Formats: sequence, C-alpha cells, structure tokens
Amino acid sequence: MTYPTQPTASHFIDGVYVEDTRGDLIEVIYPATGKVIAQVHAATPAIIDQALAAATRAQKQWAAMTGAERGRVLRRASDIMRTRNRDLSVLETYDTGKPLQETLVADATSGADALEYFGGLAGAITGEHIQLGDDFVYTRREPLGVCVGIGAWNYPTQIACWKGAPALACGNAMVFKPSETTPLCALKVAEILLEAGAPAGVFNVVQGMGAVGASLVADPRVAKVSLTGSVPTGRKVYAAAAEGIRNVTMELGGKSPLVIFDDANLEDAVGGAILANFYSSGQVCSNGTRVFVQGGIRAAFIARLCERLDQIKMGDPMDETTNFGPMVSEQQRKVVQGFIAQGIAEGATLSYGGQVIDKEGFFIQPTVFSDVTDDMVIARDEIFGPVLSILSFRDEEEALERSNNTEFGLAAGVFTQDLTRAHRMAAGFEAGTCYINTYNLAPVEAPFGGSKQSGVGRENSKGAIEYYTQVKSVYVAMGPVEAPF
Ligand code: NDP
Repeated sequence: MTYPTQPTASHFIDGVYVEDTRGDLIEVIYPATGKVIAQVHAATPAIIDQALAAATRAQKQWAAMTGAERGRVLRRASDIMRTRNRDLSVLETYDTGKPLQETLVADATSGADALEYFGGLAGAITGEHIQLGDDFVYTRREPLGVCVGIGAWNYPTQIACWKGAPALACGNAMVFKPSETTPLCALKVAEILLEAGAPAGVFNVVQGMGAVGASLVADPRVAKVSLTGSVPTGRKVYAAAAEGIRNVTMELGGKSPLVIFDDANLEDAVGGAILANFYSSGQVCSNGTRVFVQGGIRAAFIARLCERLDQIKMGDPMDETTNFGPMVSEQQRKVVQGFIAQGIAEGATLSYGGQVIDKEGFFIQPTVFSDVTDDMVIARDEIFGPVLSILSFRDEEEALERSNNTEFGLAAGVFTQDLTRAHRMAAGFEAGTCYINTYNLAPVEAPFGGSKQSGVGRENSKGAIEYYTQVKSVYVAMGPVEAPF
C-alpha cells in the first residue's frame, strides 16, 4: 500500500535514505482523520551505529571547512526551505495535524530563519586574545564533535532546525531522532541540507522510540545531547548524559503564568491569552496556561475570551481558513480529557468547551476553566493541550509570588499599561522568557529556554554558540622557560 506521505525509507544516513525493516514498525497517523499515512521502522542497533559512524567521520571534514563556507551551506538550505515552504507546510500538517494556516507561517519558515541566522554567524565564531606581559594566551572556540538531537512532536521541522543549525554552524555533526509520533519532517531537513552542499553524514536522521534516543545518548562517540521534551524525559536523558560527562541542552516543559492587571488593554489581553493557550491546539511548551486575572477586569475578560473562542474554525487542517486543529494523537487527546475531567471534579468552573468532538480525528474543544485555585492539578501539571485556567488575584506582590510558585520556569507574561510595573514583573518572574503585553513570540535572534525544571541552556540567538562549542586556551611563551630546578 502506498501512502501520500510515505518517505523513501525510514532513516537518512550519510547522505542517503536507509532502511532496516527489522526495526519496530511505527505507523504515522494523520491526526485529522486517525488514518495511517506512512510507515517507518525504528532504528536497529546496526542503523544507530551506521549513523554515529557517518557523523563521526563527516564531522572532521565539516569542521575543517571555514565558518564562512559552512555558513553559505546553511543559508542555501534556508533559501531552499523558503522556496518549498508550501510543500513542507503540507507535510508538517500531515505529521502534526496543525492547520495549514499555522504551518505556512510558523514551521519551515522558522526553521529557515534558524538556518539563515546561524549561517550568518558561522563565519563570526572566534576565540579571544589575552595579553600577559610579553606572553599571551589565545583561545580557540572549537566544535564539540557529534551532537545528538532528540525532538518532541509539536514542532518537528522547527526543532530539527533549531538544533541542527547552530550545531552545524559551529562545525559539529548531528544525529537527530524525531518523536515517533512525527517522524516525517526531519527527513526533509536532512535532504535539504545535503542538497545545499552539506557533506554526507553531517546531518543524519534516525527513527525510533525512547529506547533509540537512550542508545544514542549512551554512545561514547557522542559529545552533546540536545533534548526537547517533557521534564520526566529530561531527567532521564540528563542523567544518562551525565554518565558520560556529555554536554546538554534541555528544552523541557512548563506551566507558565500570564498575569493580567485591571489596567490592561482588554482586547490585547484576550488576544495574548489566546496566543498563550490555543495556538497549535495548546501543544506549545511555553504556553501561559495559568492566567491570573485581577478582579476589576475579570468578568469582562472571561466574556470577551468566550466570544472570541466562538470564532474558532475547527476542522480540516488543509483548509486554509481552519484555525484550530486536532490533538497530535488519540493518546494526547485522552491525556487532555483526563485533565478536563479532573478540573471539573476538583470544583473549577467550566466556562467554555471541554468536549471531545464527535467526528473522525483527535479533535477537542478549546477549554476555559475559571475559579481555579493554585492547589488544583489543572493549575500545577503541564496539560499540553487547549486548556486555559483562570485564577484570581488582588495585587502585584501576590501575583508574582503565586506565578513563581511552580517547579517550572519556562516563560511568563504580563499585561498592564503601567510601564514600571511591567518591568518589575519581568524582573521578578522566575522564567527563561518573559513577555510584556504580548505572548509566545520566539524570534531566532532572542535566547529561548527554561530556568528551574524547565531546562538547561538556551537555544537561538548568539548565546546558542556557547552550547555547541568548547573553548581551548593556548598559552604562548615569548621568553626563556624558568624552571625551579
Ligand atoms: P517526551 O518527553 O515524551 O519525548 C521527547 C523525545 O524524547 C521524544 O523523541 C521521545 O521519543 C524521546 N525519549 C523518550 N524517552 C527517552 C529516553 N529515555 N532517552 C532518550 N530519548 C527519549 O515529550 P513529547 O514528545 O510528549 O513532547 C511534549 C513535551 O515536550 C512537553 O512536556 C513540552 O513542554 C515539551 N516541549 C518543550 C519545548 C521547549 O523548547 N522547552 C518545546 C516543545 C515541547 P518518543 O516520542 O519516540 O517516545
């Protein structure tokens, strides 16, 4: 049987598609219909070995090129990606179920931004010179070697590029393992990088479940692991990487606060809460799912939010007027349903939605709970679905204290017209990314990542270079050696 999105083979290693049907079968399901649209096989130990061997060999050749040469390849890949944006967006929609209206502007385009940005930086990665009298030290900023990237299922193209672009700019090679739920898009990134001139083996993709990721992380040829995933997975991967003293970047989950003061512009605050909860059907790590609303604006906020949610167009993600798609999988929809049932059982008020849609695919309504308290499970656990919780607060001090009362620290937002209060809140939030009068923008120029249990390290921005390179000091003596005996 042939499927519309069936890749040539499961893995992309050393510049070619590779198959080993002895690996476990992974069926790729289109979330809007629940139908199988492709099949891949998990990597066997032989495939994992082949990928790591190719990356180890190719990395030396890639690192020997100048930064400007590497940058040119990445920028060419960015151009190809933009030219093929529509095809890549359709594939992203098949892989994730996210509406084409979103994927056309947020996925391959974001990947292309990363390739372009780090392509531009590749020639500017330098060490420094430290004068010590006549002697001096110079530092070399060197690649780490072979990096493993492991992705979540919500942004498969973007995650592959956010990890691959800085890694490659710095002269590393990468073996990338997508989520088993969305295995297709990263293969296209690998094809495009090769076409753009990256030597075979510099960017490889292997499929598989957690066990394949774990094998990669444990391999002595690997110098660094960059994971995007949940906190429990992060704990396992971080511990496994520590065993081999490997570098890590951990982009993990969140339960971020969004604080709306009485003086906020109502329409903007509602728009911000929508961006913070319902884009990609709520499957965004940085979502501001704990929406703290001050008493004076609360009633108007809830009324306007529900009015605007009535305008959602849920349905066929390939229809460009659709702006709300299904959950990525039946499993994830069940998880979200479970949280909704728990919110009701704990006594929160269901102000909007809450129902599964009786049609094919994994659709669920956007859901708003009000009268939520800090101790409820829906206010504490990451749901990773379209469930917004409204909590009430009295003053700034209380809002900040309760915002920070969480193990997570990925993002936080504030809506207010009071300039100094906005900056006080941003300074007080225990979070890697803060928003003032907006939410969930992640430009490649700005660092992105979590504090507390939400992660280690930063992606994007010049800062990412620190996480894909190591510094070597070279001491140069200009005079005779003075030894004690
Ligand atoms: P998971 O943590 O379940 O999985 C993440 C990846 O890790 C998958 O590729 C998974 O493989 C793999 N994996 C699982 N176990 C292991 C292991 N022991 N060793 C190595 N790899 C392993 O996350 P989801 O895919 O469910 O994604 C949702 C989570 O990702 C949410 O918590 C979300 O907040 C977070 N996320 C964070 C982002 C950030 O930038 N901070 C951005 C996007 C999402 P497989 O899926 O095949 O089992």
